[in-house]
Amino acid sequence: MKTALISDVHANLEALEAVLQAVDQRGADRILCLGDVVGYGGSPNECLNLIRKRCQLVLLGNHDSAASGGPEISRFNPNAKAAALWTSKVLTSQNRDYLRALTLSQRREPYLFVHASPAAPRDWEYIFDRFDAEPQFQFFTERACFIGHTHQPAIFERTVTGCESLPPTTLRFDPLYRYIVNVGSVGQPRDHDPRACFVLLEEPAASIDFVRVPYDIEAAQEKIRLQNLPPVLAARLASGE
Ligand code: ZN
Repeated sequence: MKTALISDVHANLEALEAVLQAVDQRGADRILCLGDVVGYGGSPNECLNLIRKRCQLVLLGNHDSAASGGPEISRFNPNAKAAALWTSKVLTSQNRDYLRALTLSQRREPYLFVHASPAAPRDWEYIFDRFDAEPQFQFFTERACFIGHTHQPAIFERTVTGCESLPPTTLRFDPLYRYIVNVGSVGQPRDHDPRACFVLLEEPAASIDFVRVPYDIEAAQEKIRLQNLPPVLAARLASGE
Protein backbone atom coordinates (compact mmCIF):
# COMPACT_ATOMS: atom_id res chain seq x y z
CA MET A 1 0.00 0.00 0.00
CA LYS A 2 1.51 3.30 -1.14
CA THR A 3 0.12 6.55 0.26
CA ALA A 4 1.09 9.95 -1.12
CA LEU A 5 1.06 12.69 1.53
CA ILE A 6 0.77 16.20 0.19
CA SER A 7 0.33 19.56 1.96
CA ASP A 8 0.39 23.33 1.46
CA VAL A 9 -0.59 23.42 -2.21
CA HIS A 10 -1.44 27.12 -1.77
CA ALA A 11 -3.37 27.55 -5.00
CA ASN A 12 -0.35 26.64 -7.14
CA LEU A 13 -1.93 24.60 -9.94
CA GLU A 14 1.31 24.05 -11.88
CA ALA A 15 3.00 22.52 -8.81
CA LEU A 16 -0.07 20.43 -7.95
CA GLU A 17 -0.37 19.01 -11.48
CA ALA A 18 3.33 18.10 -11.53
CA VAL A 19 3.04 16.40 -8.13
CA LEU A 20 -0.07 14.43 -9.13
CA GLN A 21 1.76 13.20 -12.21
CA ALA A 22 4.71 12.07 -10.05
CA VAL A 23 2.28 10.43 -7.61
CA ASP A 24 0.70 8.46 -10.45
CA GLN A 25 4.07 7.49 -11.89
CA ARG A 26 5.05 6.02 -8.56
CA GLY A 27 1.85 4.03 -8.34
CA ALA A 28 0.36 5.52 -5.16
CA ASP A 29 -2.89 3.86 -4.06
CA ARG A 30 -4.27 6.93 -2.30
CA ILE A 31 -3.53 10.60 -1.71
CA LEU A 32 -3.99 12.39 1.62
CA CYS A 33 -3.82 16.20 1.77
CA LEU A 34 -2.82 17.84 5.05
CA GLY A 35 -4.31 21.26 4.39
CA ASP A 36 -3.77 24.76 2.96
CA VAL A 37 -5.02 24.00 -0.53
CA VAL A 38 -5.56 27.76 -1.02
CA GLY A 39 -3.91 31.06 -0.06
CA TYR A 40 -0.92 32.84 -1.68
CA GLY A 41 -1.36 31.45 -5.21
CA GLY A 42 -3.50 32.40 -8.19
CA SER A 43 -5.50 29.20 -8.82
CA PRO A 44 -7.60 28.43 -5.71
CA ASN A 45 -10.69 27.02 -7.42
CA GLU A 46 -8.70 24.98 -9.93
CA CYS A 47 -6.63 23.44 -7.13
CA LEU A 48 -9.68 22.69 -4.98
CA ASN A 49 -11.49 21.04 -7.88
CA LEU A 50 -8.49 18.79 -8.48
CA ILE A 51 -7.88 18.04 -4.79
CA ARG A 52 -11.54 17.13 -4.29
CA LYS A 53 -11.35 14.73 -7.20
CA ARG A 54 -8.04 13.09 -6.32
CA CYS A 55 -7.66 12.97 -2.51
CA GLN A 56 -9.16 10.39 -0.16
CA LEU A 57 -8.67 12.70 2.85
CA VAL A 58 -8.32 16.49 3.03
CA LEU A 59 -7.66 18.37 6.27
CA LEU A 60 -8.23 22.03 7.14
CA GLY A 61 -5.28 24.46 7.10
CA ASN A 62 -5.14 27.98 8.52
CA HIS A 63 -5.28 29.57 5.05
CA ASP A 64 -8.26 27.38 4.08
CA SER A 65 -10.03 28.59 7.19
CA ALA A 66 -9.09 32.25 6.66
CA ALA A 67 -10.28 32.20 3.04
CA SER A 68 -13.64 30.69 3.98
CA GLY A 69 -14.60 33.12 6.73
CA GLY A 70 -12.52 31.87 9.68
CA PRO A 71 -10.96 34.20 12.29
CA GLU A 72 -7.34 33.40 11.30
CA ILE A 73 -7.15 36.30 8.85
CA SER A 74 -6.74 38.80 11.70
CA ARG A 75 -3.39 37.19 12.60
CA PHE A 76 -2.03 37.15 9.03
CA ASN A 77 0.79 39.37 7.77
CA PRO A 78 -0.22 41.88 5.05
CA ASN A 79 0.78 39.61 2.13
CA ALA A 80 -1.06 36.58 3.47
CA LYS A 81 -4.05 38.77 4.32
CA ALA A 82 -4.21 40.25 0.82
CA ALA A 83 -4.12 36.76 -0.68
CA ALA A 84 -6.78 35.46 1.73
CA LEU A 85 -9.11 38.36 0.97
CA TRP A 86 -8.70 37.86 -2.78
CA THR A 87 -9.20 34.09 -2.40
CA SER A 88 -12.39 34.54 -0.38
CA LYS A 89 -13.69 36.83 -3.13
CA VAL A 90 -13.07 34.43 -6.00
CA LEU A 91 -13.92 31.09 -4.34
CA THR A 92 -17.04 29.44 -5.72
CA SER A 93 -19.73 28.97 -3.07
CA GLN A 94 -19.33 25.22 -3.51
CA ASN A 95 -15.61 25.41 -2.74
CA ARG A 96 -16.19 27.75 0.20
CA ASP A 97 -18.69 25.31 1.71
CA TYR A 98 -16.26 22.47 1.07
CA LEU A 99 -13.45 24.26 3.00
CA ARG A 100 -15.79 25.09 5.88
CA ALA A 101 -16.66 21.43 6.29
CA LEU A 102 -13.06 20.14 6.53
CA THR A 103 -11.79 18.58 9.76
CA LEU A 104 -8.62 19.53 11.65
CA SER A 105 -7.13 16.10 12.20
CA GLN A 106 -7.67 12.48 11.36
CA ARG A 107 -6.50 9.24 13.03
CA ARG A 108 -5.83 6.31 10.78
CA GLU A 109 -4.00 3.73 12.83
CA PRO A 110 -1.11 3.66 13.33
CA TYR A 111 -0.85 7.28 12.19
CA LEU A 112 -2.21 10.73 13.01
CA PHE A 113 -2.62 13.41 10.36
CA VAL A 114 -2.93 17.13 11.18
CA HIS A 115 -1.99 20.39 9.44
CA ALA A 116 -0.08 22.23 12.18
CA SER A 117 0.42 20.39 15.49
CA PRO A 118 -1.05 17.47 17.44
CA ALA A 119 -1.18 19.49 20.69
CA ALA A 120 -3.62 22.14 19.51
CA PRO A 121 -4.57 21.82 15.83
CA ARG A 122 -6.68 24.99 15.86
CA ASP A 123 -3.89 27.17 17.35
CA TRP A 124 -1.73 26.73 14.23
CA GLU A 125 1.54 26.40 16.15
CA TYR A 126 4.73 25.88 14.13
CA ILE A 127 7.01 22.89 14.68
CA PHE A 128 10.32 24.06 13.22
CA ASP A 129 12.93 22.14 15.23
CA ARG A 130 13.41 19.32 17.71
CA PHE A 131 12.75 21.65 20.63
CA ASP A 132 9.33 22.50 19.19
CA ALA A 133 8.73 18.83 18.39
CA GLU A 134 9.67 17.19 21.68
CA PRO A 135 6.68 18.34 23.82
CA GLN A 136 4.29 17.44 20.99
CA PHE A 137 4.82 13.69 21.43
CA GLN A 138 2.74 13.59 24.62
CA PHE A 139 -0.31 14.78 22.67
CA PHE A 140 -0.69 11.73 20.46
CA THR A 141 -0.36 8.00 20.95
CA GLU A 142 0.11 6.88 17.36
CA ARG A 143 3.39 5.66 16.00
CA ALA A 144 3.84 8.71 13.82
CA CYS A 145 2.17 12.05 13.21
CA PHE A 146 2.30 13.63 9.74
CA ILE A 147 2.09 17.42 9.52
CA GLY A 148 2.60 20.35 7.11
CA HIS A 149 2.30 24.09 7.88
CA THR A 150 5.97 25.20 8.04
CA HIS A 151 6.61 24.34 4.37
CA GLN A 152 9.88 22.72 5.48
CA PRO A 153 10.25 18.94 5.11
CA ALA A 154 11.48 17.38 8.35
CA ILE A 155 11.68 14.21 10.45
CA PHE A 156 11.69 14.30 14.26
CA GLU A 157 12.48 11.00 15.96
CA ARG A 158 11.52 10.40 19.60
CA THR A 159 13.84 7.87 21.21
CA VAL A 160 14.13 6.83 24.86
CA THR A 161 16.64 9.59 25.50
CA GLY A 162 15.05 12.52 23.67
CA CYS A 163 14.05 13.99 20.35
CA GLU A 164 16.34 14.17 17.34
CA SER A 165 16.01 15.90 14.00
CA LEU A 166 16.83 13.61 11.05
CA PRO A 167 17.49 14.71 7.46
CA PRO A 168 14.31 14.53 5.34
CA THR A 169 15.30 11.61 3.14
CA THR A 170 14.32 7.97 2.84
CA LEU A 171 13.66 6.37 6.23
CA ARG A 172 12.19 3.16 7.59
CA PHE A 173 10.42 3.80 10.90
CA ASP A 174 12.19 2.06 13.79
CA PRO A 175 9.48 0.07 15.67
CA LEU A 176 10.97 1.20 18.99
CA TYR A 177 10.67 4.92 18.25
CA ARG A 178 7.96 7.45 17.41
CA TYR A 179 7.99 10.15 14.75
CA ILE A 180 6.70 13.53 13.63
CA VAL A 181 7.12 13.94 9.87
CA ASN A 182 6.63 17.22 8.04
CA VAL A 183 5.78 16.39 4.43
CA GLY A 184 6.90 19.78 3.08
CA SER A 185 4.96 21.97 0.67
CA VAL A 186 3.68 21.32 -2.85
CA GLY A 187 3.05 24.93 -3.83
CA GLN A 188 5.38 27.14 -1.79
CA PRO A 189 8.49 25.33 -0.47
CA ARG A 190 10.54 27.26 2.09
CA ASP A 191 13.63 25.10 2.46
CA HIS A 192 15.60 26.87 -0.29
CA ASP A 193 14.66 24.15 -2.78
CA PRO A 194 11.97 25.59 -5.08
CA ARG A 195 10.84 22.18 -6.35
CA ALA A 196 7.46 20.89 -5.16
CA CYS A 197 7.69 18.39 -2.28
CA PHE A 198 5.62 15.41 -1.13
CA VAL A 199 6.09 12.18 0.84
CA LEU A 200 5.42 8.60 -0.17
CA LEU A 201 4.54 6.30 2.73
CA GLU A 202 4.85 2.60 2.07
CA GLU A 203 3.15 -0.04 4.19
CA PRO A 204 3.56 -2.51 5.76
CA ALA A 205 7.26 -1.62 5.43
CA ALA A 206 6.55 1.67 7.29
CA SER A 207 9.05 3.51 5.16
CA ILE A 208 8.86 7.08 3.92
CA ASP A 209 10.46 8.79 0.96
CA PHE A 210 10.61 12.53 0.23
CA VAL A 211 10.05 13.31 -3.44
CA ARG A 212 10.99 16.63 -5.11
CA VAL A 213 9.29 17.57 -8.37
CA PRO A 214 10.29 20.37 -10.76
CA TYR A 215 7.38 22.34 -12.22
CA ASP A 216 6.67 25.43 -14.35
CA ILE A 217 7.42 28.10 -11.74
CA GLU A 218 7.14 30.97 -14.22
CA ALA A 219 3.59 30.01 -15.17
CA ALA A 220 2.58 29.95 -11.49
CA GLN A 221 4.25 33.33 -10.93
CA GLU A 222 2.45 34.81 -13.92
CA LYS A 223 -0.94 33.88 -12.46
CA ILE A 224 -0.06 35.58 -9.17
CA ARG A 225 0.94 38.76 -11.02
CA LEU A 226 -2.16 38.68 -13.22
CA GLN A 227 -4.36 38.78 -10.11
CA ASN A 228 -2.42 41.74 -8.68
CA LEU A 229 -1.46 39.74 -5.61
CA PRO A 230 1.63 40.96 -3.66
CA PRO A 231 4.69 40.52 -5.98
CA VAL A 232 6.71 38.81 -3.21
CA LEU A 233 4.32 35.86 -3.41
CA ALA A 234 5.47 35.27 -6.99
CA ALA A 235 9.15 36.00 -6.32
CA ARG A 236 9.48 33.58 -3.41
CA LEU A 237 8.46 30.60 -5.58
CA ALA A 238 11.71 30.89 -7.51
CA SER A 239 13.93 31.04 -4.43
CA GLY A 240 12.07 28.51 -2.29
CA GLU A 241 12.05 30.83 0.71
ZN1 ZN B 1 0.78 26.76 4.42
